[in-house]
Amino acid sequence: MSTSGRARFRSERTRNFTESVIREMTRLALASGAVNLAQGFPDFAAPAAVKDAAKAAIDAEHNQYTITWGTPALRRAIAGYYHRRYGLMLDPEREVTVCCGSTEAMVASLLATTNLGEDVIVFEPYYENYGPDTWLCGAERRLVRLEAPHWGFDPDALRRAFNSRTKAIILTNPHNPTGKVFTRAELELIAELCQEHDVLAIADEIYEHILYDGATHTPLMSLPGMRERTILVNSMSKTFSVTGWRVGWMLAAPDLSDSVRKVHDFLTVNSPAPMQQAAVMALGLDQAFFADLSGHYRARRDLLFDALSASPGFAPIRPAGAYYIMADISAFGFNDDVAFARDLMEQGGVACVPGSSFFENSRDGAHLVRFCFCKKEETLNEAARRLREYATQKGQSLAALPLASTSI
Ligand code: GLN
Repeated sequence: MSTSGRARFRSERTRNFTESVIREMTRLALASGAVNLAQGFPDFAAPAAVKDAAKAAIDAEHNQYTITWGTPALRRAIAGYYHRRYGLMLDPEREVTVCCGSTEAMVASLLATTNLGEDVIVFEPYYENYGPDTWLCGAERRLVRLEAPHWGFDPDALRRAFNSRTKAIILTNPHNPTGKVFTRAELELIAELCQEHDVLAIADEIYEHILYDGATHTPLMSLPGMRERTILVNSMSKTFSVTGWRVGWMLAAPDLSDSVRKVHDFLTVNSPAPMQQAAVMALGLDQAFFADLSGHYRARRDLLFDALSASPGFAPIRPAGAYYIMADISAFGFNDDVAFARDLMEQGGVACVPGSSFFENSRDGAHLVRFCFCKKEETLNEAARRLREYATQKGQSLAALPLASTSI
C-alpha cells in the first residue's frame, strides 16, 4: 500500500503527535549508557513496606478487576488523607476516582469536560503531555508565559487569556518543568478569574510533597469558591517512588466525577488491583514519611545545582519545588537545545530533556534544558563528574564562558 494510503488510516486528532521527547530521551539513554537525568523517575528503591503490601496483595488474590473508579478501601484512604492533611472533605463514594496514573486522570478529565474549539489555558513552559491531551479533545491551548528566572507571570496576560470560549485552566503546582511553587496571591488570582468566567481548574499536584526553602503546598481546591470547580489530579508515582505502578486519582464534585468516571471506565477500566491495595497502606504511612521527602530531595537538588553551577556554560535556575532543574545553555553556542542535548548525551554521557519540548514554539525553549535529580547520590555524583568534564572540554574550544546561576 502506498504511503499516502497508510496516511488515510491516521486520525486527524493524532496528526501532530510525535514520540514524547521525555520518554524518547530515556530510550536513547538506555541504548547509549548515558546517565539518565531526562525522564523524571527515581533509580532508588521504593519504600519496603509499600512493596511488601503490593506483594501481599497479589498473594491475597487482589488480581481481578476492581470497581472501575477504584476499590472502596483506596477511595476511603484517599479521602482520609486529604482530610488529615488539608482539611478537605471528600465523599469517597462520589468524589474520588482512581485512574491509571495522573496521566490518565488528566486526559480523562479533559476528555470529559472540554469540547471541540473550546480554550484551555496552560502556563508555559508546560509538561509536554498537555499538548497531545488537548489535541485529543480538539481544544485550543491559550498560553500564559512564566518568565525565567523567577517564573512569575503577568497578571494581565492571565486576565486576557480568559474569554468566552475558555472552559478550563491547567495548573501544575509545584510546577514541572520549572520547579515554581505558585504563591498564595497567584492562586487567588487564578481562583478569582475561574469564578468570574465560570471556568474549571484542573490542578496537577503530583509534586505536593517535594518543596524547598520553606515553600508550602496549598491545593487549589481548598481556596474559597474552588471546591466545586476544581479537579485535583495526583498519584502515588512521585511521593512513593513507584512511577511504573500507574495508580493515580482525580478528585472533584459529584457531577464532574461522574463524567470523568465514564471516560476512565471506557479507556482503562481500572488501575492495577494489587497496586491499589498497596496504595491504601502507603497513604496511611506515618506523617514523618511525607515530611522527610523534601529533605531527601533537597540534598539531591543542592548536589546537582552545585554541580551545574561549577560546570562553566551551564546557568541553572534553582527550583523551589518538584525534582527538576532548568538550565540555560546559551553559553555553549549550540544552534538549539536539541543539538545540545544530543551532544551532551553522545560526548558527555548525560541525558537531559531539551527545553523546547516544554514550549509551543520550539525557539522559545532553544536555550534551555531540563535535568531531573530524583536519583541516587552515586548517580548524581557520576552525572556531576561527567557534566564538569563535558563543560571543561567545551570550554577549551569556547572563549570565556559565564559562570552563572539563579535562585527562585
Ligand atoms: N513527569 C515525568 C517527567 O516530566 C515523566 C512522566 C512520564 O513520562 N509519564 O519527566
